[in-house]
Amino acid sequence: MAQDDADAGANAGGRLLNEVDSKRLLSEAGINTNATELARSRDEAVELARRIGHPVVLKIASPDVVHKSDAGGVLVGVSGDDAVASAYDQIVAAVAAAQPGARVDGVSVQAMAEPGVEVIIGVSRDPQFGPLLMFGLGGVLVEVLGDVSFRVAPLTERDAAEMVREIKGYPILRGHRGGPPADLDAIERALLDLSRFVDARPDVGEVDLNPIIAHSKGLTAVDARVVLV
Ligand code: ADP
Ligand code: MG
Repeated sequence: MAQDDADAGANAGGRLLNEVDSKRLLSEAGINTNATELARSRDEAVELARRIGHPVVLKIASPDVVHKSDAGGVLVGVSGDDAVASAYDQIVAAVAAAQPGARVDGVSVQAMAEPGVEVIIGVSRDPQFGPLLMFGLGGVLVEVLGDVSFRVAPLTERDAAEMVREIKGYPILRGHRGGPPADLDAIERALLDLSRFVDARPDVGEVDLNPIIAHSKGLTAVDARVVLV
């Protein structure tokens, strides 16, 4: 337990779970995640990538690195033993240069998700209203334009349907310029599953799924942060 606490790091008085543990918890909530394992050495990364199947994604696993790709800590579409081994070294070196002194647990090795539309689902807890669900499209649309919708848990089916439809980026989900439409039912189900989950689990203080890749059938959460309180 003491080791766990040391590994997990702190976030606003809570305990930040790493990506591997966050995804494990979210699968319990019924949210589909990609296979993700922690490698503590380059050899272990090679072995895990073989087991998961190439191509893979490698990411820094550190309680101190919040924006992994900004720190050079994410490489997608890595294929072949040699490429995996050098990706491991490259990520560790890039993060050491970008954030000297950052604690590093290792590198996560993950299955590459099918393409789709990147969306975000988040949960925060409001002292007055309780769990608050957030939905938006991934990337600049959320960061720059703040194009998101909110509802207080527990969500009704109607709430979930409205959350998806009231963002300005909704046409992108419907299929933009001949792109395949995202599976709206799957997004609504994920919102409802997460709402039920945080309602039943008062120890879950914060959830940040950024991004979830919404496919034409189903979805995959490829990045996850959970804070326990
Ligand atoms: P961070 O948000 O900490 O920079 P992410 O884990 O979100 O790191 O990865 C950055 C980006 O890389 C994602 O927004 C997504 O576009 C892509 N990505 C990450 N993991 C996967 C994956 N398993 N399959 C496909 N693309 C991925
Ligand atoms: Mg992310």
